[in-house]
Amino acid sequence: MRLILLGPPGAGKGTQAKLLGSRYGIPHISSGDLLREAVATESPLGLEGRAFLNKGELVPDEVVLAIVRDRLRQSDAVRGFILDGFPRTLAQAEALASLLEAMGQTVQQVVLIELREVDIVRRLSGRRVCRRCGEMFHLEFRPSRQPGICDRCGGELYQRDDDRPEVIRRRLGIYELETAPLVAYYAERGLLSRVDGNGTAEEVQRRILSHLHP
Ligand code: AMP
Repeated sequence: MRLILLGPPGAGKGTQAKLLGSRYGIPHISSGDLLREAVATESPLGLEGRAFLNKGELVPDEVVLAIVRDRLRQSDAVRGFILDGFPRTLAQAEALASLLEAMGQTVQQVVLIELREVDIVRRLSGRRVCRRCGEMFHLEFRPSRQPGICDRCGGELYQRDDDRPEVIRRRLGIYELETAPLVAYYAERGLLSRVDGNGTAEEVQRRILSHLHP
């Protein structure tokens, strides 16, 4: 299965991609996670991307492409993958198509997770992430047992710089401008399914599964 999850920030792509990845035994490839990791380890690509990431702006295509290309070439991605947060521009979608073609592969399906702006802002502003293991919590919808501490590993929970309200608005503007055109791009190619992103992770997962081709 080679699947892309598309949708605005905060729609639940990461959560759904993780669930699908463990269900099908294929990697969940998040360009945002790969970039944050590159920033944390201060790799050359991470240093190039850091300022864009913190401001909530798109990292230049060539930086993201280099990171995603390396990841797709790892052996665990041979059987399939779930892409989350990539592609985010038409140029990235074209580059992905060429990259896969060179590997004798294609994108098989694209699932768009839809959510209204008020719900997106509510989800993102309450989101907290474990600095150590990456587990996600939410002040309102999924609070940790002890405030500020990860239930899973005891690590410190933090708010991503780009989950602050003023940055969220910028990210949504960029989504509409740069990423929303991908909906038409994949619909024209007969690859797109639309799923309502409201409700619990389990509910949304069931909706996605009902759209997936076996
Ligand atoms: P995410 O975790 O998907 O919300 O991504 C966090 C941030 O990483 C974004 O706001 C961008 O700065 C950067 N980023 C992630 N994926 C991409 C991409 N495909 N193209 C450009 N920038 C990206």
